[in-house]
Amino acid sequence: MASTIPLPRQQRLLQLLRLAEGELSAQELHQRLRDAQQGTGLATVYRGLKLLQQAGLVRCRKLSNGETVYAPLERDEHHLICVQCGSSQPLPLCPLGTSSLGLNAVLLQGFRPLFHTFEIHGLCSRCQQVEVGLDG
Ligand SMILES: [Zn+2]
Ligand SMILES: [Zn+2]
Repeated sequence: MASTIPLPRQQRLLQLLRLAEGELSAQELHQRLRDAQQGTGLATVYRGLKLLQQAGLVRCRKLSNGETVYAPLERDEHHLICVQCGSSQPLPLCPLGTSSLGLNAVLLQGFRPLFHTFEIHGLCSRCQQVEVGLDG
């Protein structure tokens, strides 16, 4: 199935995501559209994001607070997340590589991958220092 050309409204969402410095939630996109006098319902924003995802143009991931954030598909970014202070820092590369993740057709069982999410949870350098401090 070929990617469909998004409608102007979805095109606008995609443009906002591409211009954004980081990932945006649906609420943030909703607010930015309002700021640009292009206000629309939050439900419309969610529907547009879903269509963009299905067209293979937008990726999403769920934050630990349950919020979903969106980014353009081409921005393949991953994060290191501290289980203690909750801070998150970008990983400088994608350890998974291509969109098919090196999985062959047999393993994919006909599934067509669009995007992946990947994150590493652990202790950030600052929290590790605090731990050492407590032990000493
Ligand atoms: Zn930390
Ligand atoms: Zn990746």
